[in-house]
Amino acid sequence: MQALLAAVRDAAKLCRLVQANYLSAETKTAGDHSEPVTIADYGSQAIICRALQQYYPDDAVVAEESGAQFLQFVATDGRAQIRALLTQVLRQQVTETELVDWLDFGAGRSAARTWVIDPIDGTKGFLAQRHYAIACGQLLNGQVSGGIVAAPGYNNGGGALFYTREGAAFKASLAGGDGTRVTVSSRSEPEDIIAAQSFERAHASKSRMARARELAGLGHVRLLELDSMEKYALVACGDADLYMRLPREKSRYAHKIWDHAAGVALVQAAGGVATDLDGSALDFSQGEALPNPGMIVSNGARHERVVEAVGQVMAE
Ligand code: AMP
Ligand code: MG
Repeated sequence: MQALLAAVRDAAKLCRLVQANYLSAETKTAGDHSEPVTIADYGSQAIICRALQQYYPDDAVVAEESGAQFLQFVATDGRAQIRALLTQVLRQQVTETELVDWLDFGAGRSAARTWVIDPIDGTKGFLAQRHYAIACGQLLNGQVSGGIVAAPGYNNGGGALFYTREGAAFKASLAGGDGTRVTVSSRSEPEDIIAAQSFERAHASKSRMARARELAGLGHVRLLELDSMEKYALVACGDADLYMRLPREKSRYAHKIWDHAAGVALVQAAGGVATDLDGSALDFSQGEALPNPGMIVSNGARHERVVEAVGQVMAE
């Protein structure tokens, strides 16, 4: 686990290097992606999968990017940039063969333990220098069992590393060192509650979420809008109390397990609750996609009341 934390920190370092030095020239591809992909997505995934290959050689991996996509979409310049970044962060020369091998490590395999990786969650936030996350979740027999989330934009760009260990949640510096234990808040009064939601309006229905808050008696709470799984981390460490993700009307978007596994692990380990819109458990056992249409994540205090309100909104 220590090696994996170090790998996620290295991945965050690579992402920051790309933001500082390459963003204007970075590789963007349309492909079948709902989000743009950058050289940092491939670099970050390579670093994390390299550590998994080394320390968990028999495990399975479900990750957002793949070696095939890299070979299809990244041109010569981009490939050289990724290799240069990996050489800088890992302090070793990296061949293209190694890079592709890392990107695909554990893919298409089944094993009791599966690692679920989003090398850059919230790519739109990453490109716009807002918030983004690097996430590595762990499933044991299809159930969320652990997670690591690096959030470089946390605390005005100071960043933080959130992770679970033995059923508890921790927050550490991105630079290194041990974390301190975090738990969800105990805030329950409407005037104290802080809610988080997506920055991008294409990703969730802001009007439905506003209506649900109103129906739950939370019409005037403080609202934080930010990209990525950092929202789960905010609930886990008590910086926020409620995070809803309600689908836009007529949306048939299928949520991906790599966008949620690590975040759900953090919130649960911190004593919070993460459910489907109807309050039932999220189902990570069905492959890449979650069968659940949305998420309600909270410190637990008003979870049932929010589930009730969301039920009303979805029926309206
Ligand atoms: P957030 O910043 O919390 O909205 O999360 C970013 C994630 O939302 C990315 O991983 C996207 O893949 C995902 N996403 C993209 N399009 C949609 C959509 N239409 N509905 C829900 N999530 C989406
Ligand atoms: Mg994502």
